[in-house]
Amino acid sequence: MSARIGFIGLGNMGGPMAANLVKAGHSVAGFDLSEEALGALEAAGGTRAASVADLAASAEVIVTMLPAGAHVRKIYLEDGGILDHAKPGTILIDSSTIDVDSARVVAAVANEKGLLMVDAPVSGGVGGAAAGTLTFMVGGADQAFEGARPYLEVMGKTIVHAGGSGTGQAAKICNNMILGISMIGVSEAFVLAERLGLDAQKLFDISSTASGQCWSLTSYCPVPGPVPTSPANRDYQPGFAAEMMLKDLKLAQEAASSSGASTPLGAEAAALYNLFCNSGGQGRDFSAIVKFLRGTE
Ligand code: NAD
Repeated sequence: MSARIGFIGLGNMGGPMAANLVKAGHSVAGFDLSEEALGALEAAGGTRAASVADLAASAEVIVTMLPAGAHVRKIYLEDGGILDHAKPGTILIDSSTIDVDSARVVAAVANEKGLLMVDAPVSGGVGGAAAGTLTFMVGGADQAFEGARPYLEVMGKTIVHAGGSGTGQAAKICNNMILGISMIGVSEAFVLAERLGLDAQKLFDISSTASGQCWSLTSYCPVPGPVPTSPANRDYQPGFAAEMMLKDLKLAQEAASSSGASTPLGAEAAALYNLFCNSGGQGRDFSAIVKFLRGTE
């Protein structure tokens, strides 16, 4: 069934996600600060909304894909924002990667107004957004999840209901904290192996079938050779940029300090990615941290 969808934040991710909703037969009105992004939505068959207020007043479903928590709080909560204008029963989907506290605050106000909201951050990157194969990690009440699901299924392949509000964001930052730490661990092992005269392919062959096995090693190996599809084989072009990893590690640290969790390795990973980004690594794939650790970057 075709729905009237409002889509705010038509950037690298939001643009192709909105285009997939159009392709599935929905009527999509977009809003963005960028003229170019709005033009791309029109070219894909969508329309442009005159304002956030107009978009919110006429949509049955609203999707947001914005840079950070401050943008999300503003566009939902400010006077004239989404929550001022959306009709009761509207389904709200925030797919931005943001802090857990902002996700919970916005959803609580939405629920008070009779709106159904989920936080639904994604993994899968720009390629997954274009192909409609994203993974959505979804936080929100059952009714909100069931309302959002048909639209998430258009934009993604794997849709997981993680629990109540904020747990989608929690899943995203916990997963990426594992990833950041494990990538540093694998990279350190390859650097040490080089110094010890152990061939990289040999370390890969042994560790990929031994207890050091993990995704950072076997699917995304940070040195060229063992995994031909990994960014190490194309001069570390992203992939998943180091600055995005840093953003997620910082969100994990904020969440750890506000919830009182002890995450010493997460803190160290954030500090290392911060140093790497400040020394010119921000636009490179996050696996290029191996060059930084080796001292060649
Ligand atoms: P982007 O910068 O390409 O897009 C953000 C868009 O939001 C831009 O078009 C910008 O003009 C628009 N915008 C900003 N403030 C606005 C406002 N007040 N009103 C309307 N539009 C506004 O970013 P992106 O790469 O598309 O990422 C979006 C979100 O998805 C981020 O939270 C990011 O962490 C997350 N994410 C990105 C990737 C990725 O690979 N790019 C992967 C997973 C998750």
